[in-house]
This record gives sequence, C-alpha cells and structure tokens, in this order.
Amino acid sequence: HTKSAGRNGYSFFEASMNANTVEQLQLLHDLRLAVSNGELRLHYQPKFEAPAGPVRGFEALLRWQHPQRGLLSPDAFLPLAEKTRLIIPMGKWVLNEACRQLREWHLQGFSHWTVAVNLSAVQFEQPDLVGTVTDAIELHHIPPQMLTIEVTETVAMRDPESTIDTLEKLTQLGIKASIDDFGTGYSSLLYLKRLPASELKIDRAFVKEMSPGNEDSVIVSAIIALAKALGLEVVAEGVETAEQQAFLTGLGCETLQGFLLDRPMVPEQILQRAAQAQLGPSAFVRTNAEWV
Ligand code: C2E
Ligand code: MG
Ligand code: MG
Ligand code: MG
Repeated sequence: HTKSAGRNGYSFFEASMNANTVEQLQLLHDLRLAVSNGELRLHYQPKFEAPAGPVRGFEALLRWQHPQRGLLSPDAFLPLAEKTRLIIPMGKWVLNEACRQLREWHLQGFSHWTVAVNLSAVQFEQPDLVGTVTDAIELHHIPPQMLTIEVTETVAMRDPESTIDTLEKLTQLGIKASIDDFGTGYSSLLYLKRLPASELKIDRAFVKEMSPGNEDSVIVSAIIALAKALGLEVVAEGVETAEQQAFLTGLGCETLQGFLLDRPMVPEQILQRAAQAQLGPSAFVRTNAEWV
C-alpha cells in the first residue's frame, strides 16, 4: 500500500473491506439460525407440457425470509451456505419440505404432479445423500418416481464415475435425475450416455440469446437432438417470450419453464391457479398457460 492511493486511499480500502467482512459475518450468523428459526421457504415454479400446458410438475426454489432484509434469493446466500457447508442441513430441510408439499398436493387430488429439488455440489458429494433422500420420501410416503433430483452439468461432470454411482443408487429407488444448466459445463458425451438421468435442462443463457439461425438457436436445436438420441426428456428453462415458446416447441422440446408461462410461486398461489383452472374458462387467471 502506497500513499499514491490518495490521502484517504488506504483507510478507505480498509474500511470497505471491513464493512464487507462484517456484513458476511452477520449474514453467516443469521444463516446459522435460519433453519431453526423457520425462515426458509420454498417457492415452486411450474413446468408445462409444451407449448402451453398442462402442468407436469414443479421445481422447488429456495428462498430465505430474512428478519431484516426481507425475502432473499439463492444468489444472496447460497455461496456462503456452500462455503460453510450450512447447505447440508438447509438441503435436508428443502428435501423434506418439498416432499411434504408434494404429499399434500397428491392428497388434494393433484396426484400426477411431480417435484424437482436442486442439489449443490457439497450435498451431492455427501456419502449419506442416498439415505437422506430415502428418509424424506419414506417419511412423506412419496412415490419415488414423483421426485426428481436436479444436479448441474458442472457438478455432474466433476467426478463422472462417482456421479454415475450416486445417480444409479437414486434411480434404482425410482427417483428421477435431471441434468441442470446443460450446455454451460463440459460434458463428455461418453459419460452423458452412461448417466442414469432421465432429463436434460437447457440452460437459460442459450434460450435467452436464441434467434432464428443464430449460434444459440443452433446449439439449442443440437441439445434437443442429442437429448432425444439419448432417450432423455428435454426441458427449456428461462422461456420469456412467445417466440422462444414457439421455436422450442417446433424443435420438439417437450417441457417449458419460464416467466412467460409462470413465475415461481408460493403454494397458496398454486392452489388458487389450479382451482380456478378446474372451474373452467380461466380468463381471470393471470397466466399464459393452461393449468389443467
Ligand atoms: P436453477 O436450478 O437453474 O433454477 C432456475 C432459476 O431460474 C431460478 O432462479 C428461477 O427463478 C429462474 N427463472 C425461471 N424462469 C425464468 C425466466 O423466465 N427468466 C429468468 N431470468 N429466470 C428464470 P432462483 O430461484 O434465483 O435460483 C437460482 C439457482 O439457485 C437455481 O438455478 C439453483 O441452482 C439454485 N437453487 C435454488 N434453490 C435451491 C435449493 O433448494 N438447493 C440448492 N442447492 N440450490 C438451489
Ligand atoms: Mg434447477
Ligand atoms: Mg437451471
Ligand atoms: Mg441455473
């Protein structure tokens, strides 16, 4: 540190670093209590049969209702949760809560709905992962095929042999596996073929940049063709426009997820949507898709 940084350069740098460190420590302190204080929430985003419904199932997306900061999205706390391994107890809560909610929906008559839960690298590498998942489905009497585990391509390909081993154990129980954010990692096609997954999710970065004939649209159509050749279902995430919806449907993408169709919602909103849709003409439902 030299004085050329300006009269207050050095102290300013120190102060800002401290402020950031203090903030992270505060956040960590709060995060440790989040599970036991009941501050975690799950929002659910529907996945629709292309082009516009009905609903096939939901992806559970974690939120933290922070007592002072309000509702936080994963990008505000997941990196810290992963670094400190707090994601392990949080992830157990997520699995359990998603299974509890799914059971409730099934009992309410939506017995065809499925739920997908995201797992981060730290969770995926836990030796007792299979036991944790088994406990959750048994506790809530979930038919295993109604639960999907989403793991990103990057995490899946980190140690492909061990991923194959873990996914084999899960799929032997009947649970489904999905490769999330596909296209951003470095998949070996040889391993992809061996992965006991049943679904590929096209990363929303490609969907976002697609326009007729450009590189991203070529990549998307190649991913769809690849998935089909490997017998995998394809989900497009981040569908925001009617053009994307039409293009993806035309390429044979079976399932669409994105703000165009519906946002992640709390369970009360989901029940409202479904109930209104069952009543018939759903002109008063603010959604671009048919729910039933
Ligand atoms: P993801 O699994 O790829 O989830 C999709 C993300 O895209 C979600 O962000 C969702 O809200 C957002 N999204 C959906 N449709 C659209 C759209 O049309 N446009 C745009 N711009 N975004 C859309 P979210 O909820 O902030 O989650 C971010 C990431 O955090 C997830 O990415 C997932 O990797 C991770 N995550 C979420 N919940 C959990 C969890 O319970 N456990 C773990 N380990 N990770 C989670
Ligand atoms: Mg996901
Ligand atoms: Mg994704
Ligand atoms: Mg993502």
